[in-house]
Amino acid sequence: MFKKILITSGPTIEPVDPIRYISNRSSGKTGFCIASEAIKRNIEEIVFITGPTHLLPEGCRCIQIETASEMRSKVLENLKDAEVIIMAAAVSDYRPLRYRSRKIKKKTKKMLLELKKNPDILLEAGKRKRKNQILIGFAAETENIFSHARSKFKRKKLDLLVLNQISEKNPAFNVDSNQVYFMTSVNIEKLPMMSKSEIAVKLWDKIFEIGSKKIDVDQ
Ligand code: C5P
Repeated sequence: MFKKILITSGPTIEPVDPIRYISNRSSGKTGFCIASEAIKRNIEEIVFITGPTHLLPEGCRCIQIETASEMRSKVLENLKDAEVIIMAAAVSDYRPLRYRSRKIKKKTKKMLLELKKNPDILLEAGKRKRKNQILIGFAAETENIFSHARSKFKRKKLDLLVLNQISEKNPAFNVDSNQVYFMTSVNIEKLPMMSKSEIAVKLWDKIFEIGSKKIDVDQ
């Protein structure tokens, strides 16, 4: 059904100086499981754009990047002819305003690190979205999860949002299982706690369902 898909995965890292960076706890497991399931479904070309992680799925065109800006340019290069775009990466929302080319020395008791907002890649993908493209985003929220998610869904022009409620019981990051919700334009479906590879199976079932409806509408 799909010839080319694009998946983003893992964290991004944003350098502070030659030896330090800011990042997040993403392990890249979710993106890896989604790519591995895509391979089983005979998708011809899988472009896998990932931040630093050791999880590189075999059978994909893996593009390794470090920063959000690098991820953005690789996504934009591959966006146009991708039929399904799955943004599972935990992109760092901010980067240091200034990169110091020399190691920052520990002289003062306090120091301020000024940050600048990174480009929102998913938002840009939504703005450039073509009629037949399926765009999928992820959201990790700690409170008001459904209202935040619904506004993200609309703003980023998504077809599907995979929503994690982050709590002590469900850390989601850097673990093997997760409890998620699938939000579409018609409803919100609660999935039970399951492994990330089982979530990938459910996700692909949903994507094929959305894909077949799009074909029906276009005909
Ligand atoms: O708005 P928020 O960051 O919660 O949205 C999360 C979704 O947006 C994820 O799918 C993530 O991959 C994507 N994202 C992005 N670029 C950013 C921040 C998030 O593509 N700078």
